[in-house]
Amino acid sequence: MKETEKIFHCTRCGYCCHGQTTVSLDTDDQERMCRALALPREEVAARYWRITGNVVQMKVIEGHCIFYNEGCTVHNGRPWRCAEWPLHPSILTDESNFSAIADSCPGIKKEVGYDEFCIVLRKILADNQRARC
Ligand code: SF4
Ligand code: SF4
Repeated sequence: MKETEKIFHCTRCGYCCHGQTTVSLDTDDQERMCRALALPREEVAARYWRITGNVVQMKVIEGHCIFYNEGCTVHNGRPWRCAEWPLHPSILTDESNFSAIADSCPGIKKEVGYDEFCIVLRKILADNQRARC
C-alpha cells in the first residue's frame, strides 16, 4: 500500500473543486497548465483564467472550477495546491486543522487517528520535498 493510501483515498466527491473562488496559480502552475492543455498562454488565459492584478485563478462556472466535470479535466496540469490537497502541512501543527480538513474532505481516513496520521503525512511531505530537490 502506498503511504498516501494509508491516510487518504479520494472519493471524487468534487467538494474541493466547488466554491466561488479557486486556488491561485503561480508561474510554474501556469506553465504546466499551458503545456497540459497544449495551448498558448494567451488562449489559456482567455478561456480558463480569472486574472485580478497579479493573481491568476481558474474561472468558476456554475459554482465550480471551470475544469471540474465529475473529476478534474486538467489533472496533469492542475495547480500544485490542488495536487497537494488535502494533505496540507498545517495538519501537522494543529489538530483542529486536521479536524477541519477531515470534515470537508471525505477522503481523509479519520479512523487512522491524529497521531498516526501525522507520522505518515510527515513521511509523505518529506518524500515530496526530496523529489523536488
Ligand atoms: S474533497 Fe477530498 S475526497 Fe472529495 S474530491 Fe476533494 S480531495 Fe477528493
Ligand atoms: S484544477 Fe482540477 S483539482 Fe483543481 S480545482 Fe480545478 S477541477 Fe479541481
